[in-house]
Amino acid sequence: MSPFPRPDYEALTRYTPDRRPVGIDLSDNTNLWGTHPAALERIRSAGPNDLARYPDLYADRLREAVAHHFGVAVDCVTTGCGSDDVLDSAFRAAGGDSATISFAAPTFSMVEPLARMNGMEVRPTSWPDALDDPGLLLAGAPSVVYVCRPNNPTGEQAPDEWLDELLARVGGDGPLVILDEAYADFAEETRLPTAPDHPRLLVARTASKAYGLAGLRTGFAVACAEVALEVEKSRGPYKVTRLGTDAAAAAVLDEDGWMAGVVRSTIENRRRLSRELDARGYAPLSSRSNFLLFRSLTGAAREDALRLRARDVAVRPFSGIPGMGDGLRVTVGPWSMMEAFLTALDEEIAALEVRS
Ligand code: PMP
Repeated sequence: MSPFPRPDYEALTRYTPDRRPVGIDLSDNTNLWGTHPAALERIRSAGPNDLARYPDLYADRLREAVAHHFGVAVDCVTTGCGSDDVLDSAFRAAGGDSATISFAAPTFSMVEPLARMNGMEVRPTSWPDALDDPGLLLAGAPSVVYVCRPNNPTGEQAPDEWLDELLARVGGDGPLVILDEAYADFAEETRLPTAPDHPRLLVARTASKAYGLAGLRTGFAVACAEVALEVEKSRGPYKVTRLGTDAAAAAVLDEDGWMAGVVRSTIENRRRLSRELDARGYAPLSSRSNFLLFRSLTGAAREDALRLRARDVAVRPFSGIPGMGDGLRVTVGPWSMMEAFLTALDEEIAALEVRS
């Protein structure tokens, strides 16, 4: 009899972050200014054919919008049901059973489960060690190297020279380097337009953050045409809905500059919130993203997050952050939300002083 599930699935669980309803949700780095107006307009214009008929096989309108906006060939673009799906498809195409994936930890929490779902072995290197020597990510000849830039949950940006060195060492026949640029809009720096120049680089993007389309589940990636084709094959047809394709295409083109405005406000509020945390003795890590990570109030981030949630504000707890230990990640949004967060934080700090 064949075992079910396959033995390496036993360690996998459903993803269960704390998603209970809360007044101010600063826990998932989505766009707190809302959604791209051009995308919303497309959804509002929906007619029966948008739903009754199948969408494009491979989301061509979105591929064309990405190609046009970033100046790459359409053949170099692939898409997915969220960038989680792009990562999943790329892992399957590049790795598969008993392949290895390496990354600098801590990083995006879905990488490990997605790799395990694909039967891959996971090989984390510590973030500070990997930053000292990018060659550590290549030790043991992995099939995939995952780099998140800016990194989730720390917000830090691996330097340009570091990335160049990693890519030079990978060369034309090394592992596939997946550069996850989910938050690159907020860093105002991207490798996406030059991804096709490297034979082993795939740059992944999401429409869930700066474009404000997390509910639509769309993502895309750019690589040389050969790599993009393999990921398309692994992804399969009909992964992105017709409305998702069109709405994300409108957001990517950003003809009215809405997204650019959100990025400007995020960067301004990120600086302001960083100063506020600093003034309270909780200086966050230096972030190029739409979130800040700062040390836990008590050393037990999960409990801190639960207490802040009781004050109607959700942040995301983390543990094992190098040089920090437990930390709390807070999404940057409109200043009224940041004020609500700071009020809850101040109340919690005061309550802790009473308790101790
Ligand atoms: N990469 C990173 C670094 C992320 O933080 C996220 C979402 N939290 C994703 C990818 C996945 O985004 P999507 O909603 O497009 O699946």
